[in-house]
Amino acid sequence: MRIARDIIEPQLVIEGAGVLLRRSFGPSRANPFDPFLLFDHFAFNDPIEGPIVGFPMHPHRGIETVTYMLEGSVRHRDSLGNAGVIGPGDVQWMTSGRGIMHEEMPRRGPQGRVNGFQLWVNLPAELKMSQPRYQEIAAQGLPVVEKGGARVRLVAGEFEGVAGPVTDIAAQPIYGEVALAPGAQVTLPVPVGHTAVAYVFEGSVTFGANGPSTEPAPSEAEGLRAPQVVPAVRMVVLGEGDGLTAKAHAETGARFMLIAGEPIGEPIVPYGPFVMNTEDEIRQALADLRSGTFVAN
Ligand code: MN
Repeated sequence: MRIARDIIEPQLVIEGAGVLLRRSFGPSRANPFDPFLLFDHFAFNDPIEGPIVGFPMHPHRGIETVTYMLEGSVRHRDSLGNAGVIGPGDVQWMTSGRGIMHEEMPRRGPQGRVNGFQLWVNLPAELKMSQPRYQEIAAQGLPVVEKGGARVRLVAGEFEGVAGPVTDIAAQPIYGEVALAPGAQVTLPVPVGHTAVAYVFEGSVTFGANGPSTEPAPSEAEGLRAPQVVPAVRMVVLGEGDGLTAKAHAETGARFMLIAGEPIGEPIVPYGPFVMNTEDEIRQALADLRSGTFVAN
């Protein structure tokens, strides 16, 4: 079973036209979370933050951006004529491929809050210049599997024979929201070799706590630590194994996003909203932007 190998405290960053985000990690050449490049949590729950300015028109190339909303919404439109609203519980899996220009404008929900996540997933070299593609699923289209106090809402991947609606993604991802009642425990399969992280955004949870506490803790092999309690809001980097057991705190319960995928294993060169394999490809992206050939029609 996978246990917490590292715990990341999200850092506040400003992106777009002045949007405050909690960033757990961003693109880097070291690519420590291959195939995942970035994980941002947007949560604007203080009126002092004023109007939400959002993310005006910007390009992407070579990646996938995945938007998952809990509260509030994101209005989006792109250079290909696609437009819509990502509402509470909805997900948009956008494969930029060779290029897309889009605008993303978060809006507060009825309670005055916005709460959502954006994950960036890398594309292998052979798909970086592919045609852009969207997989957009409304809230009711995401299956929910309930088991012993656990509620697993699947975007991609499988649990208990139920598959998430997002398919045909190079990274073979598992992406979903896990809600645990107070004290509840769930075991989720994650293939050996997958990178796995979990973003705890409510309550607190222990990963790797398999069974009663009288069991001996796992040995400290390969730098892995014994199971430990992870409180919200934290990104947990999970060690190797063929699954993970998550046990919620007896009083608070817990909610987390499970994010797992097969490493692509290629060198990357990130440059703002582009992630390519070489510096030449970044130069080409910038040249295409300047010459107006960035977006294919
Ligand atoms: Mn974007």
